[in-house]
Amino acid sequence: MKTVLITGAAGFLGSHLCDRFLAEGCHVIGMDNLITGNLANLDHLMPEKHFEFYYHDVSKFVHVPGRLDYIMHFASPASPIDYLKMPIQTLKVGAMGTHNLLGLAKAKGARMLIASTSEVYGDPLVHPQTEEYWGNVNPIGPRGVYDEAKRYQEAITMAYHTYHGLETRMVRIFNTYGPRMRVDDGRVLPAFFSQAMRGEGLTIFGDGSQTRAFCYVDDLVEGIYRLLKSDYAQPVNIGNPAEMTIKEFAEEVLEMVGNPEAKIVYRPLPTDDPKRRRPDISKAKEILDWEPRVSRRDGMLKTYEYFKTVVKVDNPVNS
Ligand code: UDP
Repeated sequence: MKTVLITGAAGFLGSHLCDRFLAEGCHVIGMDNLITGNLANLDHLMPEKHFEFYYHDVSKFVHVPGRLDYIMHFASPASPIDYLKMPIQTLKVGAMGTHNLLGLAKAKGARMLIASTSEVYGDPLVHPQTEEYWGNVNPIGPRGVYDEAKRYQEAITMAYHTYHGLETRMVRIFNTYGPRMRVDDGRVLPAFFSQAMRGEGLTIFGDGSQTRAFCYVDDLVEGIYRLLKSDYAQPVNIGNPAEMTIKEFAEEVLEMVGNPEAKIVYRPLPTDDPKRRRPDISKAKEILDWEPRVSRRDGMLKTYEYFKTVVKVDNPVNS
């Protein structure tokens, strides 16, 4: 039986990874300091014999007794409003947290996979984004704390790979959605769904012509699992290439929720908000034989079902 340490286990992606590794018959150690994670995401796993939870901040020395086969580093504030609120912790978890975990991986002989991000491409000048593109990042802008922490994370992970021969994997994650996203994390999908359900204005930032491409969480987890099992140490984009404008996305949410009270309102575009984003997933297709399978409509319906259980609505529609 393999033992895996998953940091950020109480978060959106971390909790789905815990589910997956338990389903694969692994012993799972989930670690989180709960600054953005939510233990409710792990409630269903607490009775499991092969699940343990450690309350710990990985920016501090990380001790795990016994053997470890895999380390999945998914701890970090991950939405723009979170890293604006917690800029220093965001830098620390990407930098010191990654360093501590690489040291742990080296001591245990474990394979380490890091959660990198499409944000390493910044506001990209190349479209769609291939792994060869080096990016267009403003180091001192509001997103710099996240983008540069993740870029440093890639650099130190590659250094451990080349200098120490550590087995490392790097996934560059594009916009992902699904159940267990935090309703108030400020990201566009939870914002639009909760606003539509409450009959409030859907806050489009800018004119809504900026694009994103949204990947359903189950597809993402499958890609990450395949990457871990592969022997490929270079970064791999995992995301859904189905690109759309934020305005189109707002219209889809309005149509799905069907609340006549809800409408679109416009707000200023945040600084350094990327104008276009779409993954080139040729590498994932070729190396991992992976591509997304879940349609946006199915993924959005599943996510909507989840939001119905957590969004507080005074006058619910469709209830
Ligand atoms: N956005 C928006 N309204 C919101 C939240 C986000 O129009 O209430 C926009 C945001 O400006 C960005 C896109 O939606 O262009 C995706 O934002 P998100 O915070 O989900 O993630 P990002 O891809 O920017 O990291």
